[in-house]
Amino acid sequence: MILADQHVHSHHSADCKESMDRIAVCAEEAGLTSLCFTEHNDFDYPPVDNKDLTPDFFEPDITAYHDEYLSIAARHAGRIDLRFGIELGLQQHVADRNRALVSEHPFDLVIASIHVARRRDPYFPSFYEGRTEEEALAVIFEETLENIRLFDDFDVLGHLDYAVRYLPSRRQRVDLTPYRENIDEILRLLIRREQALEINTQSMWKRQYPETHPPRAVLARYHELGGRIITFGSDAHQADHVGGAFAGAAAIAREAGFTEYAVYRARRAEFYPL
Ligand SMILES: [Zn+2]
Ligand SMILES: [Zn+2]
Repeated sequence: MILADQHVHSHHSADCKESMDRIAVCAEEAGLTSLCFTEHNDFDYPPVDNKDLTPDFFEPDITAYHDEYLSIAARHAGRIDLRFGIELGLQQHVADRNRALVSEHPFDLVIASIHVARRRDPYFPSFYEGRTEEEALAVIFEETLENIRLFDDFDVLGHLDYAVRYLPSRRQRVDLTPYRENIDEILRLLIRREQALEINTQSMWKRQYPETHPPRAVLARYHELGGRIITFGSDAHQADHVGGAFAGAAAIAREAGFTEYAVYRARRAEFYPL
């Protein structure tokens, strides 16, 4: 059983209104013993598709976030172990700002995510204009590789196939074999640096998608290449989704060969049986 959700958003993320306290309560009720808040920080987010999203839209007040985290963690002490994390949006031109941010705060966990590739977010339909879905996916894996070559101060790579969530066709099966070369390079780099690969369950609980992000074939490949460090995250933006689809995700991870998962504290992994 997975006892730790390590990808959760609260109202400190610009796209979320949920209270930290309610998240902690729901996590306890779901039987989790540990939860890491991982609020969005995307420097210079491109407001291409929605002019209300200013470039600093996804830049939280991290001091306010940390202060509230400390009080909520103390309130729930002894019932659930709450941790302080960040989901950092990578783009090549903000690598230095990301480095500075990570060094300035006492994070337990830093997730690196690609939410923007070539100045567009695959969440929005404009990302797919003039591109087939295959071309769009190719862009994502190229950009992911380029970004993690440039920036390495993170613990976990988040939702490796993020764009699969938002493909216009909404298909239930996406073959990632055509991108194998870049995906292998990404996995090898993570393994070499002892960084974790996240198993993100959002599509499983949100739309009954049959795979985690990344899917089982990529998890098996990561294992085959020697990768052993995985984390689980629901990517919940509402308290009642915390720990969503964890039983199914654990089964997929076991099938891919994993026997344990990592839980981060002060940016160090501790391992627990799957
Ligand atoms: Zn994300
Ligand atoms: Zn997230």
